[in-house]
Amino acid sequence: MSAHEDVADLLPALIALRRDLHAHPELAFAEHRTAAIVAAALRELKLEVHEGLGGTGVVGLLRNGSGPSVGLRADMDALPMQEEGSGLPHASRHSGVHHGCGHDGHTAMLLGAARQLLRHRERFKGTVVFIFQPAEEGRGGAKAMVDAGLFERFPCDAVYALHNWPDLPLGQAQTRPGPIMAAADRFDITVRGRGGHAAQPQQTPDAILAASQLVTQLNTIVARRIAPDESAVLSVTRIEGGHSHNVLPAEVQITGTVRSFDPVAQDRIEAALRDCAAGVALGSGTEIAVSYTRYYPATINSAAEAELALAAAAEAGLQASLAPRPAFTSEDFAFMLRARPGAYLWLGQGHAGDSRPLHHPGYDFNDAALPLGIRWFVAVVRKALPA
Ligand SMILES: [Zn+2]
Ligand SMILES: [Zn+2]
Repeated sequence: MSAHEDVADLLPALIALRRDLHAHPELAFAEHRTAAIVAAALRELKLEVHEGLGGTGVVGLLRNGSGPSVGLRADMDALPMQEEGSGLPHASRHSGVHHGCGHDGHTAMLLGAARQLLRHRERFKGTVVFIFQPAEEGRGGAKAMVDAGLFERFPCDAVYALHNWPDLPLGQAQTRPGPIMAAADRFDITVRGRGGHAAQPQQTPDAILAASQLVTQLNTIVARRIAPDESAVLSVTRIEGGHSHNVLPAEVQITGTVRSFDPVAQDRIEAALRDCAAGVALGSGTEIAVSYTRYYPATINSAAEAELALAAAAEAGLQASLAPRPAFTSEDFAFMLRARPGAYLWLGQGHAGDSRPLHHPGYDFNDAALPLGIRWFVAVVRKALPA
């Protein structure tokens, strides 16, 4: 019975590994120690190991007879933030670097799955591609691996990943067909006047006033240009300009982010943002330059694989349900799902009475979720690669 699949004997070593990774977090594309630990663990299992894919990415291959192939992905990077208030013996030893998103747990779970699959090889037939990617946090490590030929070198009929999810109680899991995580765009706007004396406003376009008008207009885009039943968000997160009470600055900078699920809405928001900037520039006499970068696409599950992911969760003993709506955070597994069918699962890891979210300075991965994630990966493989 998979629901009671025994992985207990794997846990002490995996918990120790997970905490060691937590104590030694590494930033995007600098996961050298982590990648070396992963590669050594895969070699110890006698898997074929490929290192340095897309920077610090590692791929392990488990060939088990002829059959389809499935990719399982874990991310390895930590966040550029200080761990605070966790009070843990395995707290980060690297100042300003923190495993605040639980990728230490994802890495440990995927290594555990490799071990478990190997000792029950008779229960699946085909090839498992273990994908350990760098730089999930805003730097596009998944894209780097795809661009480096991940799926050409290691063909995958489908790819799967999970993320620990503090909003769901431990023991639950959710996903859905279609969008599960948002596309993430970034805009950087520079408003230029000439600058001048605060008491002689007639001599320069007022960059501060123009920027203020623009911020107000940007906040109308989602409300007025996007259909009410469609989801998107635009947030202005930084505005900077001026140094003194009696000088009109020459320049003001505005930065923010846009999250959406549908490329048509995404196009419309970008176009509206550019229109607003052009309109304010014309009305105010300023020059406004817009840089708009789409850094992560929406994470979109294919229907059959989302269904398989939920069935695997149920088989792994999880309380599996359809996610009622996608999340507005983003995920670079999106790049793998653009290249291959697949699905992304939210694995509950909430502690009762502890609401520390992902990216919180005191966040720590819940080790009680380790066996659940291992069982899910294993169940996915057995469903995708039936014996
Ligand atoms: Zn994160
Ligand atoms: Zn994450």
